[in-house]
Amino acid sequence: MQRRRVVRYLGATLLCPLCLRSGTALAEEKRAADSGHGEAGKEAAKADAHGADGETKAAGKAEGEKTGKPAPDAKGAGDKHEGPHWGYEGEGGPEHWAELSEDFRICGTGREQSPIDLSEPTPALLKDIAPVWKKSPYAIVNNGHTIQVNVPPASFVNYGGKDYQLLQFHFHHPSEHTVDGKAHEMEVHFVHKAEDGGLTVLGIFIKPGAEHPVLVPIWARMPEEAGGTVKVEDEFIELAKFLPRNMTTVQYAGSLTTPPCGEVVNWVVFRDHIEASKTQIEQFAKLYPMNARPVQPRFRRAVLLDFF
Ligand SMILES: [Zn+2]
Repeated sequence: MQRRRVVRYLGATLLCPLCLRSGTALAEEKRAADSGHGEAGKEAAKADAHGADGETKAAGKAEGEKTGKPAPDAKGAGDKHEGPHWGYEGEGGPEHWAELSEDFRICGTGREQSPIDLSEPTPALLKDIAPVWKKSPYAIVNNGHTIQVNVPPASFVNYGGKDYQLLQFHFHHPSEHTVDGKAHEMEVHFVHKAEDGGLTVLGIFIKPGAEHPVLVPIWARMPEEAGGTVKVEDEFIELAKFLPRNMTTVQYAGSLTTPPCGEVVNWVVFRDHIEASKTQIEQFAKLYPMNARPVQPRFRRAVLLDFF
């Protein structure tokens, strides 16, 4: 009880991500919804679904259609999108995203863009993040931007009193968020969506170390070609095994890290990391050597550390 009161107090004074969300993020959702792309959330889920991705060779050539408006649904198989070609280098690179389409403008004009450097977060009394991730069948998709694993609706996380359902998770190499200016080898993003379209994405850094058991079956099956999908129905994935030991998180209000860069994301990044073997990291890097958007300015955003 008491803690809750403190949280509210801090929320009011420190501008916690929730508070920021209720203002800007919701406005953004509305804007996106009005822009004729269907709900912002969907767009959002889709885009991040695609993970910021390095316009890798595979992706670049697969079909000239990697865009910010990924598949009709985050769970979508390959991607079928029309729209400008974007990537991580050259003419379609991050510094040009905003110019590629009217729909991508916020990539350049937004003030709550992601990723960011997470150094020196402000300690705050935040509610614990306790994802409820169930074992489930899954489908592995090479969407031309990243390797994405779609899961059926069963797992969720509660954030700010609202439930967000886990749609998919995907990987970045190197990590998108940085700490003290440094990127880690990889980052995995668990994309959760609420009924109102808002997103909560949980980010976990991956460093070289022991082989990660849950990555083994995924890596063994991941399609090498963009557009490839592998459905796994006879074997369940143990999502909870992805969580780091220490559940301390850094939280802030941000955006998709891919076009259209909608500012509809509650970002929750774990301070602790998980490990994958060097071989596992290299296996992914072979497909996607660089699929991370550079860090964006924080501007006046609060970046809070859950210090419990
Ligand atoms: Zn991502």
